[in-house]
Amino acid sequence: MKQFVLMVLFFICNFLEAEQVKKNYHPFLADDDPIKWHTLLPKYIEPDISLAIELSQKNIDEIASLPLNKLTFRNTIIALEKATDPLDVAWGYVSHLDSTCNSEELRGKHNKMLPRVAEFSANILLNDALWLRIKIFAETEEAQNLQGIDKKLLDDTLDSFRDIGADLPRKQRERIKEINIEISQKAQKFAENVLDSRNAWERYVDNVEELKGLPSITVDVLREDAKAHDHEGYRISLNPSTSGKCMQYLEDEKLREEIFRASLTVGCNDPYSNQKLVEDILRLKDEKAKILGHKTYADYALKRRMAKNGSTALSFVESLHDRTRKFFVRDIDDLEIFRAEFVGIEKSRLVPWETSYMSEKLRKARFDFDEEQLRPYFQLENVIAGLFEVANRLYGIKFVEQPTFFTKNEGDTPSGEAIPVWHEDVKYFKAFEEHGAYIGGLYMDIHPRESKHAGGWMSSTKNGYLDGDGTWHYPTATICTNLTPSTEDTPSLLSHREVETLFHEFGHTLHHLFGKVKYASMNGANTAWDFVELPSQIMENFCWERESLDIFAKHFETGEKIPEELFRKMIAAKNHMSGSGMMGQLCFAKLDLELHQKYENYANTDIEGQLRQVLGTYRITLSEYVPTITLSFKHIFGGGYSAGYYSYKWAEVLDADAFNKFKEHGVLSREVGDEFREKILSRGDSDEADVLYRDFMGRDPDIEPLFIRSGLVD
Ligand SMILES: [Zn+2]
Repeated sequence: MKQFVLMVLFFICNFLEAEQVKKNYHPFLADDDPIKWHTLLPKYIEPDISLAIELSQKNIDEIASLPLNKLTFRNTIIALEKATDPLDVAWGYVSHLDSTCNSEELRGKHNKMLPRVAEFSANILLNDALWLRIKIFAETEEAQNLQGIDKKLLDDTLDSFRDIGADLPRKQRERIKEINIEISQKAQKFAENVLDSRNAWERYVDNVEELKGLPSITVDVLREDAKAHDHEGYRISLNPSTSGKCMQYLEDEKLREEIFRASLTVGCNDPYSNQKLVEDILRLKDEKAKILGHKTYADYALKRRMAKNGSTALSFVESLHDRTRKFFVRDIDDLEIFRAEFVGIEKSRLVPWETSYMSEKLRKARFDFDEEQLRPYFQLENVIAGLFEVANRLYGIKFVEQPTFFTKNEGDTPSGEAIPVWHEDVKYFKAFEEHGAYIGGLYMDIHPRESKHAGGWMSSTKNGYLDGDGTWHYPTATICTNLTPSTEDTPSLLSHREVETLFHEFGHTLHHLFGKVKYASMNGANTAWDFVELPSQIMENFCWERESLDIFAKHFETGEKIPEELFRKMIAAKNHMSGSGMMGQLCFAKLDLELHQKYENYANTDIEGQLRQVLGTYRITLSEYVPTITLSFKHIFGGGYSAGYYSYKWAEVLDADAFNKFKEHGVLSREVGDEFREKILSRGDSDEADVLYRDFMGRDPDIEPLFIRSGLVD
């Protein structure tokens, strides 16, 4: 009987929902500027994405049915560049909401449409008529005479079709299509398992005494979190921004162990285990690469990156490992000695839930410096204003905050100039040139919530591009982060690392907003992935320079700048355990490349056991074996970074080198800023990344500045 009632209710809900979807109303296809987020409700996803696929398919069919003697650059290549806009825009919104406002309803709709979206993209590969017309056009006189960016668009289009297998026999292309669809679904499930297993664990602490050692701001955040869950006391979760602090500061070893062991379950245990997904995804990627004529998936993925192939990327990582190894060994040895003295025992292997804690204690002992001392100087609002001021000094631009509009009630509309947002916390800014011309928009979604994916990222919410009629379409960027929120007693005060995160994502934002390339697919941050982290990472340098820090680092109560003594300690402690930090990143990069460049060693075998051997010199030997990050490594299994994690280090070589040019002229030099904007930030993918780099620096990159900056020199 109960079941019957539920079924009736379910039917009524569905019926009501079906009624509420207005006919001929397609908010996800509206492409408004500003975007009407309040109209983008889950119930419209299915009809709108279906229509977006239909419209995009119609555009493709039009190109594919052109008479063979009537092919022009405009009706083939440019038309193709724009053909999938309806779906790109609409699905872009759905994906964004999936990462920031995840709910059962939204996820259900997203996952229902995902295979159809993947199928649509995969079908382009099977479209013989389309590929024939592109090839025939490429032989015409008009094509032979194309210059500059137009020629690059044609070449890139031809390359990308060949790269995905357009010239292969149909049977093989059909198999690639199947693989692409399968990978997209498995990657989505992988990411969901990470989010869900992280959310599945929580631990309440009643007595504040148990939290001894934790910075007071973290204690406040844990208390507010408990309150938000209708609970007394303090709530510890696996949100990395607070669990990381617990591992670093919590004196209660038992509690630290508990959190550590819980963190090991992310993506590992049923019902959230990613084991089978990892095996499947690797196997499918390898099969795809081989069908496409590459020896490895890494070779396939890196063909058009700066590294060009998997073995160059792997040698890069291994050579950095060899140079870093002795500093890493020294760091661990120092930490073991320190721990022995600190605890009063014989020197022995570190315990896993002790590394972060002891490292923090050692930093304090060596430099009399605790990074929490900096937090009062980094009030969120000041840091954001500081970001904008640094951008103003370097490039002359201004960001102006706009009133926003958020509602949970369908039908409510914003009044006046208010800009709709997807959550009440989201802020919106407009960027202007110094002479007043509009550049683009920027959303900022700063704080964590359960419905939001962890980490920080910038997404290109709207691409900048030039229309056929000469109209410039302005770009919009979105910064999403999970930074320390405010509490009842204190405003949002950031750690120095969080300030760096904000500067990093802001660097991507400037790359996106400054793009002046007329084709969206080559504009802004749409560049080679081992180059794209240059604009972001170079901004992190400004978090270490007195001149730029003085702009925004002001004590939230007294307004004073960071005292000289504290600043000196911060700089002195900057490279504390930097050998270990560098090796940690290299370990992720090596793991990623091992799986994608040497798959034959991991097929049908115990992946973890194999990695344990290979990564031996990249990892600390602890008192017990700690599994690698593989089953929760969203970057490479749930995102697009497979065979690409090395890009962070690759681009770090570039940013450490290029920042020296800023330093030589004064870090806030407008002259160097303008040159960086003109030669790198505004040029998107209009030329090869190494050409852009040489244009700015006048030479090839030098690896030494990275080691010098990291203190990894004798
Ligand atoms: Zn980045």
